[in-house]
Amino acid sequence: MQAVVIREVGAFELADLPVPEPGAGEALIRVSVTGLCRTDLKIVRHGHRDLTLPRVPGEEVVGEIVSLGPEGAEAARPAGAAGPAAASGATTTAEPASFAPGDRVYVYPGVWCGECPSCRRGAENLCRQMRIMGFHRDGGFAEYVAAPLQSLIRVPDGLGDEEAVFAEPLSCCLNALELGGVGEGDVLGVWGAGPAGTLLSRAGSLRGAEVVVVEPDEQRRAFLTATPGAPPQVSAHELPPGPVDVAVVAVGDPRAYEAAIAALAPRGRLVVFSGLLPADDAALHVSLSAVHYHEHTFVGAYGCSFRHGVDALDLLATGRLRVDDLISHRLPLAALDEGLDLVARRAGMKVHLYPERGTP
Ligand SMILES: [Zn+2]
Repeated sequence: MQAVVIREVGAFELADLPVPEPGAGEALIRVSVTGLCRTDLKIVRHGHRDLTLPRVPGEEVVGEIVSLGPEGAEAARPAGAAGPAAASGATTTAEPASFAPGDRVYVYPGVWCGECPSCRRGAENLCRQMRIMGFHRDGGFAEYVAAPLQSLIRVPDGLGDEEAVFAEPLSCCLNALELGGVGEGDVLGVWGAGPAGTLLSRAGSLRGAEVVVVEPDEQRRAFLTATPGAPPQVSAHELPPGPVDVAVVAVGDPRAYEAAIAALAPRGRLVVFSGLLPADDAALHVSLSAVHYHEHTFVGAYGCSFRHGVDALDLLATGRLRVDDLISHRLPLAALDEGLDLVARRAGMKVHLYPERGTP
């Protein structure tokens, strides 16, 4: 099969690899669409804390189950994740044993232990033994990917693959909004109107917040509010129009963080959503005295839990959160470099890759 392989940080190659063999409790999935995000840019060109090499990257994956590994039907999802998902009443939850070839699935990128303290409190993204697809194990920039049944969520009927793959970035946004405690009556400030910023703004408005998006690029500001279906309680600004109760920074820019912290209202919450390159992180100046006097809260948000994937697919399938207008580029796997350039230059919105189909 055709696959992108990173052998050393800063470079990748398009290789012909054997189709992976699904192990016990795993499924082999033919990848229909895989999304590109800034994390992939970081992984390929700069490296990442959680990246082990060599690696097929790609953590946003939707596809069709081709076959199940041995004893697949006996695999069980660890505790910690299934509970909240089941409790949410979502119809997208599927028991691992019920999967079969032909099923369309979204792959939650994590594999977790289900027993550590993080897993037990429903934060399996922070699992001590977390193994992320595209980071610790091979991901979706390939025609096929093998993934554990515990990580699969059935794509609801009527939801297209292209929309369903947004479940991954949207899940991360839902985690960030949850950690920021965004709710009715809050003014939510979102820094950046790229794909993540736009998802944050739409999901934030669904939680009842008044959303102000801060974005220096005029075209992106116009897109955010002019697109049909954009929530009416979202407005776009070059500079923050006033204090915000919650600030979520969706651009990897230390100046955006400084501006977001400066805009926090008393008792305001900052969600550290976008990671920074090490040099940018070191350059950031934060006054703890200001945090003290204004009772500010800073909270990090990294990835998402399984239940966020269930909720994200539900939001997408019911049409409450629109994403079809966000796809700006559809590229073959071989055009990854072009896709990364688009992401680096913030030249488009969401870039999707479509691995060529083959036969295992
Ligand atoms: Zn764990």
